[in-house]
Amino acid sequence: MSFAGAYKIHIKGLVQGVGFRPFIYRLATEQNLKGWVENRNDGVMIKVQAEYSEVERFISLVRARAPVASSIRSIRLLNSEGEDLDDFYIHRSNDYSEQITEISPDIAVCSDCLEDMKFQSHRLNYPFINCTNCGPRFSIIRDLPYDRPNTTMHRFRMCKVCYEEYTDINNRRFHAQPVACNHCGPEYEYYQQGRVIRDIEKILRELKKVLYKGGIVAVKGIGGFHLMCDATMDQTVRRLRSIKSRDQKPFACMFRNVETIRKYANVDDKEEKSLTSWRRPVVLLKELTKLSPSLNSGLDTLGAMLPYMPLHYMLFDEIDLPAVVLTSGNISDEPLIMDNQTAFSRLGGLVDAFLFHNREIHNRLDDSVVRIIDEEARLIRRSRGYVPEPLQLDLDVDGIFATGAELKNCFCAGKDKQAIMSQHIGDLKNYETYNFYTEAADRFMNLFRIEPTYVVSDLHPDYLSTKFARNFVARKSVNKQNQRNGKIQWIQVQHHHAHIASCMAEHQLDEKVLGVALDGTGYGEDGKIWGGEFLISDLDGYNRYAHFSYVPMPGGDKAVQEPWRMALAFLYQSFGEKVSQYYLEFLKTRQPEDIKMILSMIKKGINSPLTSSAGRLFDAVSALLNLCTESGFDAEAPMKLESVVDPRIEDEYNFEMRQDQINFNPVFREIIEDMQMKDSTRMIAAKFHNTVARVVTFIAQRVRDEKGINKVVLSGGTFQNKYLSETTARWLGDLNFEVYQNKLVPANDGGIALGQLAIAAKKRR
Ligand SMILES: [Zn+2]
Ligand SMILES: [Zn+2]
Repeated sequence: MSFAGAYKIHIKGLVQGVGFRPFIYRLATEQNLKGWVENRNDGVMIKVQAEYSEVERFISLVRARAPVASSIRSIRLLNSEGEDLDDFYIHRSNDYSEQITEISPDIAVCSDCLEDMKFQSHRLNYPFINCTNCGPRFSIIRDLPYDRPNTTMHRFRMCKVCYEEYTDINNRRFHAQPVACNHCGPEYEYYQQGRVIRDIEKILRELKKVLYKGGIVAVKGIGGFHLMCDATMDQTVRRLRSIKSRDQKPFACMFRNVETIRKYANVDDKEEKSLTSWRRPVVLLKELTKLSPSLNSGLDTLGAMLPYMPLHYMLFDEIDLPAVVLTSGNISDEPLIMDNQTAFSRLGGLVDAFLFHNREIHNRLDDSVVRIIDEEARLIRRSRGYVPEPLQLDLDVDGIFATGAELKNCFCAGKDKQAIMSQHIGDLKNYETYNFYTEAADRFMNLFRIEPTYVVSDLHPDYLSTKFARNFVARKSVNKQNQRNGKIQWIQVQHHHAHIASCMAEHQLDEKVLGVALDGTGYGEDGKIWGGEFLISDLDGYNRYAHFSYVPMPGGDKAVQEPWRMALAFLYQSFGEKVSQYYLEFLKTRQPEDIKMILSMIKKGINSPLTSSAGRLFDAVSALLNLCTESGFDAEAPMKLESVVDPRIEDEYNFEMRQDQINFNPVFREIIEDMQMKDSTRMIAAKFHNTVARVVTFIAQRVRDEKGINKVVLSGGTFQNKYLSETTARWLGDLNFEVYQNKLVPANDGGIALGQLAIAAKKRR
């Protein structure tokens, strides 16, 4: 036996569950190299016995040809001992934690498969084509290991041709679990007024007809149903709104290609990169031209995505529309519909046609949403294409279950040093959504073999996620006592501390930072509603250094839905009684009795809980400028305020510091003065945003002077405001602060569970 040299190549990054080992195998055999490849907890290890120059060449080919969904973070070359090897091998593992890393997110159809659809005789126009580099993954997994019988593909028996491809290591479909073809795989079925069509070409022609006539179609996708219609037909878009009982919330659109998107929205390099990535999220873009006025009712952002299923490509080949609306198939706040029967019973009579398929969806997934802020893709909603990819932490989080918040709930489970975030669940107050939550939590614990010994929830006593924690602990404690007297622990974490910790965990920070948490609502230690918080925090705890001053919320939750009430509350604080004498546009549509009633509630403190919320402050300014007096969806008023900002304005308003409270009375007085000027809305919106950014830099400087803290962590839903976020980060950067923001998990309540998990891990230690 003789060999030239022996080397090990250690590759880190997203290299598991994306067809990486078969790729290495094929490349190595193509290059006539002997050795093996295996998964490790921290990546892939390759052994190669060859000359140094051959190994170098091999590594450069690995980089050049790596599977589309993989991403290589580092490659390390190590000297090794020679082994008696006569071929190249894939070592398969039986270790559970390694099997977990093989569950990849769902991957958009790859260009090779799109090409195969034209030439492979058994897959001509086959809309469920996939390979090791693409196709459904998490959405179809029922159990581990990730093998066909454990997916919802179990009911489809592979034909001889598919089986040969599946078992041939030199084939691109080697061990592609959802592999299928025209003869053996899933099929579409089109229903329209009692007619059923199964031929895909006929289906596409019918789809075209119904879309061109202004019809709405329920289409089953990867993670659930979509509702689809012509995005340029305003009347149809309005009808879609009434079906979904969603008055204002913007609809996402799927475009033919990037060039077409450019006609309607601005697309920079980073945005293009996100749009075309295999994860295929909805990307929030700056709108240039309207497709139809009712798509995003007055906002200047457009949610755009590109085709990611074979069917999407086939549809755009058939129709010549620039874009179709492709919004989640649900009614109002209910979860996305994912099975054919529910779709039929909930949407029958409302939509004009159904496009079903018979590949069952096991894990429900909404489309993910991304916005480029400060040159980075930031997740607004994390679901399809991202879940269940774990986040690497610097903490042992094994066995911790974090139940998340309430409104945009995601939960998070800990395995070793990995945080596995759930898909976007939604608003738990909706009964169906809460059922989805408990079911998804169950499935996560089973799939990832997590037996929680430590549960962490929000401090809010009435959040359904808190109640879930309480019940879970009660149930498990009973069970465990019977077994071995084990005890399951439960802790509660303050909402804004969790926001800051979510960002710290992402950046592996564990030291004292200034945490700036700006959002709508979070339960405070003093029982008040927090949301404009400056916390000196680490993962162990926090000290509330400063906060926005408290204002009454007349009518409680009613004030969230009706921002004009908040405008009145802030104006009353700034001007007292005489506010009713001002001639203000936004009050003109209100009944004088209503105004009187709200003022008296504020004055007497009747049903007016106090809040330091940044969201309510933005609401108030938006209403005062008459941009949004009644909110049709979460954060509508702040989004409308952001969309009118004139970025050329550099002025600010004055604010006051009273002990630890930041008071905005001067801001409202100066806004009223500015409102006397004609066409001042865009300027006022800019000055107001600049003021909030200034408040952050002002506090940051004080904290640095007093405590020597130079790291500033920005989190909370308000920082999804691109203008505010970029301005604040730039000004802090100019003052040499180190600024951290959420990227991998949402800055909104969808990221809270990660923070809860990190805090719990620290506490447990
Ligand atoms: Zn493919
Ligand atoms: Zn087949």
